[in-house]
Amino acid sequence: MSVQTRPDLGSLPAYVAGRTVPGAIKLASNEVPGGPLPSVRTAITDALANVNRYPDASISTLTGTLARKFDVPVDRVAVGCGSVALCQQLTQALCLPGDEVVFAWRSFEAYPIVTQIAGATPVKVPLDASHAHDLDALLAAITPRTKLVFVCNPNNPTGTANRRDELIRFLDQVPPHVVVALDEAYREFVTDPDVPDGMELARSRDNVVVLRTFSKAYGLAGLRVGYLVGPAELAEVVRKVYIPFSVSSVAQVAALASLDAEDEMRERCDAITTERGRVADELLAIGYEVPETHANFVWLPLGDRASEFAEHALANKVVVRAFAGDGVRITVSTREENDTFLQAARSFSR
Ligand code: PMP
Repeated sequence: MSVQTRPDLGSLPAYVAGRTVPGAIKLASNEVPGGPLPSVRTAITDALANVNRYPDASISTLTGTLARKFDVPVDRVAVGCGSVALCQQLTQALCLPGDEVVFAWRSFEAYPIVTQIAGATPVKVPLDASHAHDLDALLAAITPRTKLVFVCNPNNPTGTANRRDELIRFLDQVPPHVVVALDEAYREFVTDPDVPDGMELARSRDNVVVLRTFSKAYGLAGLRVGYLVGPAELAEVVRKVYIPFSVSSVAQVAALASLDAEDEMRERCDAITTERGRVADELLAIGYEVPETHANFVWLPLGDRASEFAEHALANKVVVRAFAGDGVRITVSTREENDTFLQAARSFSR
């Protein structure tokens, strides 16, 4: 008898990671430059001595510390192997085949993948003309089969953000049986006070969860740790489908040390958001359309010329992330690396 794998996995899109090209600057994965925060580096090194032991399976110290930080009971927090794993766990915990998951498009490329892995049906809702989430269209896409809506704020890859009033209006209209996941992977880079902290919106609602990560502002992308804060009932089912021990002991220690290094993190984010303003202004001055960005990257909606732009950047020793037919996402880095990119953007013939 030959093996029988799930036929539906044949149409599963592959997750495309930003490329690493030796000798070229990588601005393709929204990583921060400079490694882990300085004080966290020591904690990571010390934690290596214990890697013969399994990690704390219930991630108790980190979960408790996050609960205190956000002033919520500990049963409202779930920690996972990166927030991408939490996206998958949430989908798995909510959906059965035939259920629908609604999200904007383009948005984080893992959403259709985790949806299909759960056997559910992805429902993609186009972004609006300003490259932001069209919240009314998302609402209109909700059906009795909808179990989950992802709202990525700020949105990857466009950097756009939805504001407090419109999000509250949206959440007020989402039917109570539908869970809204506010994906705030880039929250720490938000400087506009009108872009709400999802924790503030989720606190009093039974159907809203917030997803955050240590991969971006905290510089721990290689260690894989993220977290979810939401109603206890939802955090519990997300923990149920957690792969045991998948948040390593080193990741747990590093995340804890990172929470103790908020000042270092803020300093780093400030440098990046200052650079973000400069890079966006320069690109506008060159003549590009640059949607207002609230994350650590900029989006160039170049349409059919996206891949060509990425090839040109690579020829100039900069790896950016092209989404064929849509646009190019460029991570904001150090001044020097950004200047190399800007030089490439200037010499692209348009
Ligand atoms: N959400 C969004 C919007 C992202 O861009 C990313 C990373 N690219 C993630 C979640 C997942 O991050 P991680 O798994 O590294 O925590």
